[in-house]
Amino acid sequence: MIDEILERVQDGRTTREDALYLASLPSHELFHLADQLRREAVGDTVTYVINRNINFTNSCIGDCAFCAFRSENGYVLSREQILQKVQEGIEKGVTEICIQGGLLRGMMLDDYCEMLESIKSHFAVHIHAFSPMEVFHAARNSALDITDALSALKHSGLDSMPGTAAEILDDSIRRKICPNKISTDQWIEIITTAHRLGIPTTATMLYGHVESLENRVDHILLIRDVQRKTGGFTEFIPLPFMAKNNPLGKVVSRANGIDMRVHALARILLHRHIKNIQASWVKLGRKLAQTMLLCGVNDLGGTLMEEHITKSAGGTSGEYLSPKEFEDIITGVGRIPRRRTTLYELI
Ligand code: SF4
Repeated sequence: MIDEILERVQDGRTTREDALYLASLPSHELFHLADQLRREAVGDTVTYVINRNINFTNSCIGDCAFCAFRSENGYVLSREQILQKVQEGIEKGVTEICIQGGLLRGMMLDDYCEMLESIKSHFAVHIHAFSPMEVFHAARNSALDITDALSALKHSGLDSMPGTAAEILDDSIRRKICPNKISTDQWIEIITTAHRLGIPTTATMLYGHVESLENRVDHILLIRDVQRKTGGFTEFIPLPFMAKNNPLGKVVSRANGIDMRVHALARILLHRHIKNIQASWVKLGRKLAQTMLLCGVNDLGGTLMEEHITKSAGGTSGEYLSPKEFEDIITGVGRIPRRRTTLYELI
């Protein structure tokens, strides 16, 4: 039986039943298989990107139960402050500016577009910005459909998008943890429209709260199905739920947080479809992110320089990881560090 499953894994045709069987393997077997597939897919190179993160506001009309970032008396960065932060990033050699923020009441599509245009008019830098939820918010406030909104954002300088707001792509779970966020179908519609318009995205999964193993497997297989159709995902990033300072954390045990097997399972289920599996150092910490390199991971994300979302939820890994620290982490497990662009071209 295991031989047949491994054959389907190799062909990128792993079934749900296969996935649940694989998820029941002892950890050392699961990690060994994931590590083998990682080597086949991308070799021993481990990538990272020099980027700057900008969270332009923490005011938000949303009410996600896992969120510790939103604030009643929040800040909103001015255009000058945003440009200043981009300038600081450029001075540190960034190739990417990553922008996400809360959902400001009354923020129109034009406001999002002007933010992009003002950055692009000053700096030649890749802009990786706005979650599918933010795109939905901009389109809804401006009474536009998703295609028109994304076309306008692309025209204004949007180069790629974070595939955040995915959480767990199952509406029964979404009703519990983020009832007023876009539905599973809406997330898929926005992502597939972005891919159709030539806007690549990442894919994420927020795990370790109220979801089951089956929910995790279904989420990863759904991402695989989208990738089969569009080819627009650059990487998959499992994100452990951080339990501090949010309502969901009060009802979910902290021990449910980080599960190293999720990265390994993602590597196995996405084999032949998504080459890059990322460990988020800001969520996991440096040591655990390094350990993940032995469990199917080949990318460590970005330098960030500034990070509020994880920090608000109890993350203690800091806000900046220097290129030297990335290189030490990667060479520390005998792998080859390489800088990359957002779209995984090696630098
Ligand atoms: S996760 Fe995003 S949309 Fe949800 S409350 Fe927090 S800032 Fe708002």
